Amino acid sequence: MTELTQAENLIEMRENIRRAVQSLDVCWRCQRVSECQKYILGNLVLVWLCQGCMGEMEQPQPTRPKRRSRVPAL
Ligand SMILES: [Zn+2]
Repeated sequence: MTELTQAENLIEMRENIRRAVQSLDVCWRCQRVSECQKYILGNLVLVWLCQGCMGEMEQPQPTRPKRRSRVPAL
């Protein structure tokens, strides 16, 4: 019954991969792959954030779009 054990091994491998994938994720903010934690954005959207971004997001700060920082004020 080698087929059965192979299937079991595949299932086990898949579980291991799933576990690894669960602990590693692409950070929603900086797009780096690292250990991420769930963060609920605006109480609506669930995103994954790395520890650095998580710390920044938890600090209360005014929302300021980065790309507009060089636009001169009219
Ligand atoms: Zn990040």
